[in-house]
This record gives sequence, structure tokens and C-alpha cells, in this order.
Amino acid sequence: MVVDVGAGMTNARRGVAILGSTGSIGTTALRVLDRQRDHFRVAALTAFNNAALLGEQVAKFQPSFVGIVQNGAEPHDAWNVGTACLVEAASRDDVDIVLNAIVGSAGLDATLAALAAGKRVALANKETLVMAGELVTAACVAGGGEIVPVDSEHSAILQCIAGRRGVDVRRVIITASGGPFRDWTSDQLAAATLDDALRHPTWRMGRKITVDSATLANKALEVIEAHFLFGLPYDRIEVVVHPQSVVHSFVEFVDGSVLAQLGVPSMELPVLYALTHPDRISDTGVPHFDPVALSPLTFEPVRADQFSAFSLGIAAGRKGGAAPTIFNAANEAVVALFLDARIRFGDIGGAIGGALDALGDLPGDSRENILAADAAARRFVQERFAC
Ligand code: NAD
Ligand code: MG
Repeated sequence: MVVDVGAGMTNARRGVAILGSTGSIGTTALRVLDRQRDHFRVAALTAFNNAALLGEQVAKFQPSFVGIVQNGAEPHDAWNVGTACLVEAASRDDVDIVLNAIVGSAGLDATLAALAAGKRVALANKETLVMAGELVTAACVAGGGEIVPVDSEHSAILQCIAGRRGVDVRRVIITASGGPFRDWTSDQLAAATLDDALRHPTWRMGRKITVDSATLANKALEVIEAHFLFGLPYDRIEVVVHPQSVVHSFVEFVDGSVLAQLGVPSMELPVLYALTHPDRISDTGVPHFDPVALSPLTFEPVRADQFSAFSLGIAAGRKGGAAPTIFNAANEAVVALFLDARIRFGDIGGAIGGALDALGDLPGDSRENILAADAAARRFVQERFAC
């Protein structure tokens, strides 16, 4: 298991770097940190290109390091510019926790650098664990760092396992909202528009993960994420649809006892827990849990036959090698095309399947091979599906 018992809360304020501070998770994290100034200080902020919002965040939190990846909008002179700023922010001495809230494979080097420097990585950026799971877990062991998940399902599993040994766990059951197309027919799915896909029923998130939730690719990414985080084989990781998003996941132990973690659907809770694990601190920002108001809670099987991205992703995880890398990269590339209105929703699964058929046997045993597989999958999707 990558996640280990943390150092516990101390009186010293811990430095937090937020990579991707202008996104959905990044802004959620800053809301949480604003209420926790006694425990944490914002040491570093980075964003891709939203200089105006980043500037407001810098004025409010006064970090000692600011990085912007794309220099399109006249960032302040003191800001660091270019992709190297991510690794720099992640490895600074005044940073104890790196919240990686970047979307996609661009977050890989920063995660590796933070782990090599022995830091806690509060990981929202699941794509890099899927893309390079063995590399990331090896970096974690070698550097003495730790990965604590931000994803609500994995945060739930971590909280349910609560220090028990992996052998005590019979299986985990990851919950899925089912997304906006949970009960759509195949004909409706074929005609689904971008606006339909971006209308998530329970979570407000960035555009890429919202589309991943509509295709259920997100759930396949999360199954692979759970495999690497908790060292569980794939036949002990299951998924159930739970439209209310209140039960964040279940853990069944070998004696048949099942624990679940519940909460209102807000990312503030898992973000806070990733910072404080294994401790808890009070946070007044999240509404109190009211089981009556949140009821009924219902569960359904996943319609895997309608959501090919889900089945393809899990098969890629089971296959190993570079197959998860191909799955992730093809998905990122095809979702970018869908967000640009260059392909239809119904084409997403076909593009991922095509890339896996053509490239799924590539090796994934080194950083070079992983980066080559990632690039090959993106090229494949671009050449075959971009019009
Ligand atoms: P988002 O698109 O809202 O934000 C992404 C952030 O990353 C922005 O600050 C952007 O400036 C930055 N960024 C984008 N591309 C970059 C690049 N190439 N280099 C450096 N920075 C870049 O995304 P989000 O919804 O906040 O999701 C972030 C990550 O968290 C994703 O991996 C997602 O799967 C995961 N996650 C999100 C949620 C959620 O509720 N939003 C829940 C669970 C997991
Ligand atoms: Mg999730």
C-alpha cells in the first residue's frame, strides 16, 4: 500500500503547494486552506494560464513561489514561467504537502519530484497514477514520500481501511454517480451533445473529468488508481452505481463486515482529509450530514455494455504494461477533441478501443517507454479521429 500513516498534526504550520490552483480542485483547496490558516500556509501556487485568477490568489495567500506554465497574459515579473515551475514548486524546502490538482499527464514530473523529495502528495491528478503507476509507486518508496488520495472514493477507502492490513480486505466497492447518461438508451447516447455531457448531476468539476464521468472512463481510471494506491488486485475492486453520491465507497473485510464512508457530495472534505490524514480537524465549511434529507440512497449495477470506455479501461488495467498508459493518453486526446466539438460523444469509446488494439502491447517498464506509449496514443487519436 502506498498510503501510510502520516506524521500527524503538529503545532508547526505545514507548507502546501497547490499545483493547478485555478481549477476546480485548486480553488476548492484554497477555500479549505483559508479556514485552516492555523494549521497550514500556502507556500506555492501554480496555474496553466489564468493569470488574472492566479494574481488574486497570490494577493490573498502571499505564497513564496508562484509559477505559470504559459506566459500569455503578462504575469508578474516575480513569477516563474514554463513547465519547469511545476517541479520547482513541488520540491521546495518550505513545502511539506504538494496538492497535485493538475488535469492530465502534465502532472507526472511534479508528482515524481515531490515523492523523490520525500513529501506528501495529496493526489487529485489520478491520470498520472494510471499512466505510470509502477513508476510513481517506485518513486514513493525510493524517496520516502507518501501519496494520499484526494479522489472522494479513494479517500473513503483510505478512511475505511484506517490502518488495517491489506490482507484483511476482501474487496473494495467504488461508488459511481452514473453521470448524466446513467439511464440513457444507446440511441440517445449516440446523439448526446457536449452540453449534455457537461451537465453532471451531483458534482461541479473541471470539463475533462466531467466528460470522463459521462463516459465512465473516470470510473475505470479510479479502479486503476485504487489498484496502485492500495496494492489490490483487480478482482478485488468492484464498482456500483450510486446516483446520490453520498456513500463514497465501501470496504468489505475478510470476516464479511462492510464499512462505508459517507458525506455530502463536496470535494472540500476529501481535500481537507488529504492534508490532515490520519488526523482530523474541524472545518465549518461543509453542511452537516442529514441522513433523512439525503435519503433514499440507492445502488444499481454499472451498464458496462453501454459505456465501452469503462470496460476498455478496466481491461487495460488488468493487462498492465503500457496498456493503462495508452488508455489514459487516448482518453485525454479524444476528450480534448470532443471538448473542441471535433468528434461526437459516440466516437470516444471507439477511439480509445482503436488505440488499445493498435498499441496496447507496448512495454511500460521504464519512463522512456511510458512517455513513448503516451505520445504514440495521442498521435494515433489525432491522426485517425481529428477532422
Ligand atoms: P480543472 O480543469 O478545473 O483544473 C485544472 C488545473 O490544472 C487548472 O488550474 C489549470 O490551470 C491547470 N493545468 C491544466 N493543464 C495544465 C498543464 N498542462 N500544466 C500545468 N497546469 C495545468 O480540473 P479539476 O476538475 O480541478 O481536476 C484536476 C484533477 O483532479 C484531475 O486529475 C481530476 O481528474 C481530479 N479530480 C477532480 C475532481 C473535481 O471535483 N473537480 C474530483 C476528483 C478528482
Ligand atoms: Mg472520484
